[in-house]
Amino acid sequence: MLNDPRSHGLWEKTAPPMPATPPLAGPAEADVVVVGGGFTGISAALHLAEAGRRVILLEAVEVGFGASGRNVGLVNAGLWTMPDEMPRVLGPVHGPRLLDLLGGAPAEVFALVRRHGIDCEAVPNGTLHCAVGPAGLAELAERARQWGRRGAPVTLLDAAETRQRLGGGTYAGALLDRRAGTLQPLAYVRGLARAALRAGAQIHGRSPVTEISRQGPDWVATTPGGRVRAPWLVLATDAYNSAGPEGLRREQVILPYFNMATPPLPEAIRATILPGREGCWDTRPVLSSFRPDAAGRLVFGSVGQLTQPEFAVHRDWAMRAMHRIFPQLRGIGFEEHWFGRIGLTPDHLPRLHLPGPQAISISGYNGRGIGPGTVFGKAIAAHVLGELPAEALPLPVSEARAVPLRWAKGQGYRAGAVAQHLLADRL
Ligand SMILES: Cc1cc2nc3c(=O)[nH]c(=O)nc-3n(C[C@H](O)[C@H](O)[C@H](O)COP(=O)(O)OP(=O)(O)OC[C@H]3O[C@@H](n4cnc5c(N)ncnc54)[C@H](O)[C@@H]3O)c2cc1C
Repeated sequence: MLNDPRSHGLWEKTAPPMPATPPLAGPAEADVVVVGGGFTGISAALHLAEAGRRVILLEAVEVGFGASGRNVGLVNAGLWTMPDEMPRVLGPVHGPRLLDLLGGAPAEVFALVRRHGIDCEAVPNGTLHCAVGPAGLAELAERARQWGRRGAPVTLLDAAETRQRLGGGTYAGALLDRRAGTLQPLAYVRGLARAALRAGAQIHGRSPVTEISRQGPDWVATTPGGRVRAPWLVLATDAYNSAGPEGLRREQVILPYFNMATPPLPEAIRATILPGREGCWDTRPVLSSFRPDAAGRLVFGSVGQLTQPEFAVHRDWAMRAMHRIFPQLRGIGFEEHWFGRIGLTPDHLPRLHLPGPQAISISGYNGRGIGPGTVFGKAIAAHVLGELPAEALPLPVSEARAVPLRWAKGQGYRAGAVAQHLLADRL
């Protein structure tokens, strides 16, 4: 994408190609105009087109250009917030409602993959949230207790069980979540887009929306090549937002996150690492993630931006960290490096706005957008179809509010990751 190997890295190499999505040319009319071609926008477009609505989706660059085509591919259940905390922070109605929806989100993702025959390396074998030290283990034990009380299929593993499943590491334990799994994210979003096209949606790439205005009862989304007029507007631009109300654009702090991938591992080594093919991440504040892909590569990631001057710091750290967890990989490095923007909200919860009559946006998944983006896209479609009134939506409706010192906070995360990766194993 954009001939930049650090934008989508391995995923661009191994995803099936996207069908042509030519730029918008001239004026057009639809029932719904969707802005943004990631999981959220594409899922909304798919479900609306399946319900017979005329949908036009405008994407600034290409489907999957944003976080949806760059992420780790961990299909998580739930958010960062502890299950018991949700009713306290979101209230007695939305808290339990969101927990149910997101607890079931991986199942929804894997069902969509099957229903549409999406070729995206989907592996519904669970995830392992790995505990660093006693504090990490205590946090995961509490998480296991809270999900367990709700009947979720989660198991707390001890250090020996964790080491056995991983094939390495010295973690104090891990939370095995059998609802979750992994997929190839760019292949997934392209597959959803292909299904949306088949259902009748129009998707235009290279069509950045430069202006959104009202004309009578309709919204008009203008791009350099044309404009779409529609009674309904869906904004699904998340952390890559370059259109829409100012507050919406500035309500998230950007956390850079990178991935690096080894070449396909020799069979003898591959068999020793994550033989159950779970996806993993750890409890450190500057976390690490790792997962296998279908060809037996290991994809290793953490917080950081792969531009100069810090690229070498993150690459060298990632190599040391990976070799520390999996000594059998010594001598093996990374072939691919790529990174993207994670949008963080102050309370780590997503935001739902109704920024005008018949307009809706959901964003702010805090690094957990595969399941949420998919099910929120479906909820957006149900809202537009009149099947889900505002009070029945999964999140409370809020006003978009800019985060104070947003840029400085983002730079703080970026610098903190550099410091952490420079000093991690030297202290
Ligand atoms: C490196 C990384 C690792 C992550 N790991 C995971 C993970 O393992 N599991 C997980 O669940 N989540 C993960 N996430 C988070 C997840 O990828 C996101 O939450 C999710 O992709 C957001 O989807 P979205 O559709 O809302 O937004 P995006 O996928 O970002 O899509 C927004 C789209 O809007 C387009 N756009 C912006 N402005 C305009 C405009 N003016 N006109 C037209 N189009 C516009 C952009 O080009 C973009 O394609 C990760 C994110 C990153 C960056």
